[in-house]
Amino acid sequence: MSTPCIITVAITGSVPKKKDNPAVPISVDEQIESAQEAFEAGATLVHLHVRNDDESPTSDPERFGRLLEGIRARCPGMITQISTGGRSGAGRERGAMLGLRPDMASLATGSVNFPTRVYDNAPDLVDWLASEMQRFGIKPEIEAFDLSMIFQAAAMQRAGRIAGPLHVQFVMGVKNAMPVDRDVLEFYVKTLKRLDPDATWTGAGIGKDQVTLARWSLELGGHCRTGLEDNVRLDKATLAPSNAALVEQVVELCGEYGRRPATVLEARRLLALPPASAG
Ligand code: MG
Repeated sequence: MSTPCIITVAITGSVPKKKDNPAVPISVDEQIESAQEAFEAGATLVHLHVRNDDESPTSDPERFGRLLEGIRARCPGMITQISTGGRSGAGRERGAMLGLRPDMASLATGSVNFPTRVYDNAPDLVDWLASEMQRFGIKPEIEAFDLSMIFQAAAMQRAGRIAGPLHVQFVMGVKNAMPVDRDVLEFYVKTLKRLDPDATWTGAGIGKDQVTLARWSLELGGHCRTGLEDNVRLDKATLAPSNAALVEQVVELCGEYGRRPATVLEARRLLALPPASAG
């Protein structure tokens, strides 16, 4: 039997604004609502950023706390994953909310160029974020923007700085970073499995390539990420109406590849996460 597919929904991100797509959830209430709709559509993992009222990104623990509380109450068992990405603060601000103990947090293990800036992940910050994740029992999702980041994650795992099997997200289609390239994706997967045979992985594409990466990931036995965070470059006329609609699209694609969406229990087992704690 084929492996069930964990569908990640990245509901907000740090970039898309209401003017780009009015469906992007910004307030905590909108985010909880959107996460619940996506959960009911088949997503089992939610990737979270928070915004201030003026839509600027923040790492405000109070806001993250309300969001986690709402999602835990309304989406039983859904895996919560907080972004430690670079737009929401500088240096250790990026991990200021890890004490809230989400199930997972993103961890970029190297630096890369982004459309208009350097996504700066200095070694000492990566080490500190990883140690905070260990301290609070949070599983990292390694954000791999190129091959060196996979090797770095494997080295950290061997050194005991990342516990358990690696979970890596391969990101393709960010301008100035790794393009959408099937041969490279296959080499990523092969390399990851060589370094950590028990590793799991997700493919994430940007804009129209969300679907390209979903198809390739389903075919190659990986998991899928979708959501409005990565959807900003779509033509205005084809903007997704909601996070749930994007999840439904992946659910439909699963059938084409003999896969089905994972349940929350299956998703937690696949990622070696403990069962959800109540509330
Ligand atoms: Mg993100």
